[in-house]
Amino acid sequence: MKNLILLGPPGAGKGTIAKRLAAELGYLHLSTGDILREEVARGSELGKKAKAYMDAGELVPDELILAMVKERVAGKDGILFDGFPRTLAQARGLEEIAPVQLVLLLELDRDTVVRRLSARRVCPQCGALYNLITSPPKEDERCDSCGEKLIQREDDRPEVIARRFQVYMRDSVPLVDYYQGKGILVRLDAARPPGEVYAAALHAIGDDRP
Ligand code: ADP
Ligand code: ZN
Repeated sequence: MKNLILLGPPGAGKGTIAKRLAAELGYLHLSTGDILREEVARGSELGKKAKAYMDAGELVPDELILAMVKERVAGKDGILFDGFPRTLAQARGLEEIAPVQLVLLLELDRDTVVRRLSARRVCPQCGALYNLITSPPKEDERCDSCGEKLIQREDDRPEVIARRFQVYMRDSVPLVDYYQGKGILVRLDAARPPGEVYAAALHAIGDDRP
């Protein structure tokens, strides 16, 4: 199976698409953001180092991220990288770890990013994602699957959202040229409804099934 990267600003829907591709096509979903949040929750050494960067909307240092990814990828394929690489140094580091056959760029403008992230809520119990505007839970701010009270991520507060978008523009947008130059970049309009973005992603992937 191919290894894929999902690239795009925060709030573009990378996590939503990745979860569905993993469930339906059997990719191994590797979200560096999810892994870091687990490390923070466990209070590990890595979690302690990463927390301040994350809460401020800054990037966790490349060496920490690369070590974390390498450990989880060794010997595997069919990996769907979500939220990684985020810098050119990470992209170059990834080349030593695993080959990448396709990069899906989820394109979304800044205003839509801010609007979506401000309305995002997550279930602290099972990780289910909601959006109070576009996909609200049935019962007022409680998880449909497990009933937990939904929370807002620390970094989905307005000041931090603005910073995350800036960091994306500065550090991650250069990856667009980088992968375009390698001829493996496909652009998707992420402002469309989730089902349409997913269909476009499937089309780009072709018949890469396990
Ligand atoms: P989003 O894509 O919604 O911004 P993520 O859940 O992917 O959020 O990441 C949350 C935070 O975790 C980032 O703002 C950053 O601090 C950290 N992080 C995640 N992935 C990386 C990475 N590849 N490199 C550096 N920091 C990362
Ligand atoms: Zn839940």
